[in-house]
Parts: sequence; structure tokens; C-alpha cells
Amino acid sequence: MRLSNSRKITIIIVLAAAAVLYFGGRSSLEKCYYPPILMYHSIDDHGSKLKLSVPVKELRAQMKYLRDKKYDIVSSAQLAEMIKSGEKIPHNIVAVTLDDGYMDNYVNAFPIFKEYKIPATIFVISGSIGKPDFLTAAQMKEMSDAGIDIESHSVTHPFIEGLTPDGFKKEVVESKKAIEKITGKSVDTFCYPYGGFKDFAPDVLKDAGYDAAFVTMPRDNSIAVDAYRLKRVKIASGPFGSLDFRIKASGYYMWFKAHRWKKKKSTEY
Ligand SMILES: [Zn+2]
Repeated sequence: MRLSNSRKITIIIVLAAAAVLYFGGRSSLEKCYYPPILMYHSIDDHGSKLKLSVPVKELRAQMKYLRDKKYDIVSSAQLAEMIKSGEKIPHNIVAVTLDDGYMDNYVNAFPIFKEYKIPATIFVISGSIGKPDFLTAAQMKEMSDAGIDIESHSVTHPFIEGLTPDGFKKEVVESKKAIEKITGKSVDTFCYPYGGFKDFAPDVLKDAGYDAAFVTMPRDNSIAVDAYRLKRVKIASGPFGSLDFRIKASGYYMWFKAHRWKKKKSTEY
């Protein structure tokens, strides 16, 4: 029997988790925990947007699972608050984030978020607001009023590694202003386009009034919680949907991914 890569990964994670529990007990398990911050993009049934979309039915099952398992679901701003306070992050925390601000977030995901009372976070590209396929200002305002956290994903979605500090500053300051004008709420968190990162970014973000920022997968083997470089797990549609999702929401997936990164040093992310 040939196993797909994702099945192999899942089996290895389960074995690694069992080994950690068996040999290290609770204290070493503690060191392997990283708050699960789930990353979505498009929610639609047509599999477009370069494999980054999750079908509506899967999102519904996943949100139901989080509620059934009594996860404490927090917005990106609430998570940033927790990190800032320096208190230990409880292990039942999960954050649900969606990147880019696609119109299907309103059409397909918003009804599910309302049904399960999920304070999801949508990172919008302010320069794309109202363009075909993207959220309109009215949709953003309606969702924000209903408890969805609308935050910044820059103005133009550039790869930050090609920007100067001033160019980056323009992206973070202008997008914050534009989104705040629409929602009437403070924009406190940022999501780096393409998961790119530069050392100057945290200072620029702090100066502009941001409390936290999100990347994608680990590009190093550290799972220390850094408020301006919070790592997220990608949720994609896959053959084993629910087991894969349970592992990703457990809080122990990031540790495994980070260690795998160290070994492979590949450029797959
Ligand atoms: Zn993006």
C-alpha cells in the first residue's frame, strides 16, 4: 500500500506524540505546545484559488468539532492581548483566521461563524476591498458588527522581503487606517503576505500601533511564542479531513512541523 505524504505525516505525528507522552510525561508535553492558530483562505466548493480553498461542508464540520470539544475560540486581537499580558496561554485556545478577504468568506463562511458563534479573524488586503471576488466595505462592516475581527493583510499584498522599512511602513499604516474607517474598530494585528518576514518588521508594526503579527508555517525550529511572528497551521481540503484537523487543532502539530523543518531545510513553505 502506498501512503500519501499527508497520511505519512499524520502517522508520524501520532507516533511522535505517543513517544513524547510515554517517555517525557506531562512536562515535556508542555514544551511541545503551541497555540493552534488555524489559517484558511477561500471557503468554496469549487476547489479554485490554487488548492487553498476549503469546501463549505468541511468548514462547518470543523467549526462544529471545535464547539463540541469545548475549545475557547479567540480572535487574533484577543490572542494578542493574552500574549501581551504574559499569562500562560490555556491549552484549550484556538484561533480561526482567513487570509486575503475573499467575498466567499462573507457568502459561505460568515453564516457558519454566526451559527457556531466563532469570532474568526479575516485579514483583508485594503487595496482589494470591493474588487471582483473580494469583500466589499459593507460586508466587512456587517461582519465586524457581528463579532468577526477584521484585521490587516497590507494594502497591496507585497512580498515583504522585497520592501524597505519605509515601504513596509506605508503598507501597514495605510491599510490600518482604511480598515478602521470602514469598521469603526481598532486594527491591532497584521498578517504578512505570503508569510514573508524581515527583521525590521516588528519595530515598524509596533510603531504603527499593532500588537501582534502572523506568519504561516515555521521557517525555523523554534516554537517560542513571538507576538510579531505567530505561526499558523494551514487548513486545506484533504482526504482525511477530520483526523488531520484534530491533530492540527491539538496544539502539538506546530512542534512537529518545526522539527521537521530543521531536518529538511527545504523551501517547500
Ligand atoms: Zn495573502
